[in-house]
Amino acid sequence: MRHFAVVGSGPAGFYTAEALSKTYGDKARINILDRYPVPYGLIRFGVAPDHQSLKAVSKRYDKVADEPGVDFIGNVTVGRDVSVEELLELYDAVILAIGAPHDRKLGIPGEDLAGVVGSAEFVGWYNGHPEFADLDPPLGGTHAAVIGNGNVALDCARILSKTPHEFEGSDIVGTRWRRSTDRRSARLQSSAGADRTRSR
Ligand SMILES: Cc1cc2nc3c(=O)[nH]c(=O)nc-3n(C[C@H](O)[C@H](O)[C@H](O)COP(=O)(O)OP(=O)(O)OC[C@H]3O[C@@H](n4cnc5c(N)ncnc54)[C@H](O)[C@@H]3O)c2cc1C
Repeated sequence: MRHFAVVGSGPAGFYTAEALSKTYGDKARINILDRYPVPYGLIRFGVAPDHQSLKAVSKRYDKVADEPGVDFIGNVTVGRDVSVEELLELYDAVILAIGAPHDRKLGIPGEDLAGVVGSAEFVGWYNGHPEFADLDPPLGGTHAAVIGNGNVALDCARILSKTPHEFEGSDIVGTRWRRSTDRRSARLQSSAGADRTRSR
């Protein structure tokens, strides 16, 4: 029997677990560890809440977690609760699939001014990520500048341009909208919630 620890339950972690499960079948025990109580990494906390078809990839990950040799273990921060060295004593192999969850500073004047937020923070906030629940981005104005033009920048621009009712049917966790006199200054208040926790 081989024992594997996969650290991180985003796409990289789940596809690794899937490959290990397919390769070793019932001769492997695979534990997927994550610092959060819920899996899926940036599929949950990154991909926009109004892109349900993209988020649906998590159903494939659920199937991986349902394999007899695979277990998801949440609320374990590797490096704080357990070290990589300790994991290596317990497992035949440890795979780090921890993603790139934080913004990279640009190193330019003004980036620390009030009202300037990184996309990881902003995206995490509108997706109900617990680490960014207190971000409180300034949404009272009528103009926003998005620096960059990759898919994350376009997600941010799209979310900023939408009105509250256009989010109906999205999966923003615990969302409620408060309308002000200016429609554009309606603020999204999302609170992190733990749904479909799969800790076995
Ligand atoms: C706004 C946005 C929109 C996107 N849109 C798309 C899209 O439309 N289509 C697409 O294909 N991709 C999209 N992506 C990219 C996609 O989300 C990422 O490429 C993918 O999630 C990366 O997978 P990953 O497994 O490497 O990392 P992550 O998804 O970040 O997963 C890493 C996991 O590791 C865990 N972790 C980190 N540190 C530790 C630790 N010390 N101990 C335990 N666990 C830890 C984290 O909690 C997390 O669950 C988007 C990303 C963003 C930010």
